[in-house]
Amino acid sequence: MSRADARALVDAARGGIRALAAYVPGARPAVAGERACRLASNENPLGMPPSARAALAGLGDVSRYPDNDGRALKRALAARHGCAEDCLLLGNGSSDLLFLVASAYLEPGRSAVFARHAFVLYPLAVRAAGAAARIAEAHPLDHAEPLGHDPETLARCAGDDAAVVFLANPNNPTGTLLSDAQLRALLARLPARTAVVLDEAYAEYREPVPSAARFLDDPRVIVTRTFSKLHGLAGLRIGYAVAHPDVAELLNRARQPFNVNTAAQRAACAALDDAEHAKRSRQCNHDGMQRLLAATRALGLRTLGAHGNFLTIRFGARGGAFLRERGILARAMAEYELPDWLRLTIGSPEEMNQVVEALESWE
Ligand code: PMP
Repeated sequence: MSRADARALVDAARGGIRALAAYVPGARPAVAGERACRLASNENPLGMPPSARAALAGLGDVSRYPDNDGRALKRALAARHGCAEDCLLLGNGSSDLLFLVASAYLEPGRSAVFARHAFVLYPLAVRAAGAAARIAEAHPLDHAEPLGHDPETLARCAGDDAAVVFLANPNNPTGTLLSDAQLRALLARLPARTAVVLDEAYAEYREPVPSAARFLDDPRVIVTRTFSKLHGLAGLRIGYAVAHPDVAELLNRARQPFNVNTAAQRAACAALDDAEHAKRSRQCNHDGMQRLLAATRALGLRTLGAHGNFLTIRFGARGGAFLRERGILARAMAEYELPDWLRLTIGSPEEMNQVVEALESWE
């Protein structure tokens, strides 16, 4: 087989796939073991919950396939959110579920709507499915929710035929939030047959944390949540969706069997019960966010919304190199069409000391 044969096979792939650019994860230390503040991927700086660590230590034999129905975790999630177990769907990270919805509802000739500066996996999932993306312009910078989702424009883009609307709330990377009243008003303007993915990856940082089941009266809404953020299990890849039982059942048919591994299911059950770790993580995020907001305000740096575990800051072109030289890894925002901005995850108190100290030398 020659390189030309391989090329021919690449060219034989579906157009939507050939047009893709691979996902680029946030920066990692260049050298393994290098000490750096890893603030590029919105992970929990306090690490995994001790309860999840204990669950993994007691994992035992993994020669058997995982529970394909994730029953123990669904039972716990149903109790947590006040819904029936058949409203729940588990995924290999919530990313898995975003792609699952795209694969179920999108194909060439169909359209999906998301906002400019919305989470970067939406364009990836939509293009991979061969569907068209309709991009809703975000609020302008001088708006109360700068660069946030504009419900008016989202509804207009959806028209009467969008197959899916993807909406992150709070959104990554703009950190902006729509209230439930705004979401309800948007839903009232969307077509009856449009699936609305309400991506609540950062909802656990809100106080009080809203139930993921609060939109179950509207069968169009598919809420997604993750254990990667507040629950500190990003490396295990586990998330879930709450949807009308008929929609959950449909999506369940399309997912890969055994898509959530045994370790992830066990650790997630333990993490869900670890109220102490959740409380500490929320407090750490709140304190770190206040410090970062104060430090950026003192420098007159422009920031976006503060509703998640990250802050997107306009540093100008040299910000990334400046922070990296000081051992701080931030997320570049060029692929979000925000080339002058960097997104910083709220780190541990020690990491925030380092960030604040670095900012003091910024000019
Ligand atoms: N949605 C949003 C808005 C995110 O920021 C992320 C992670 N960066 C995800 C979904 C995916 O998270 P995971 O696949 O780890 O659950």
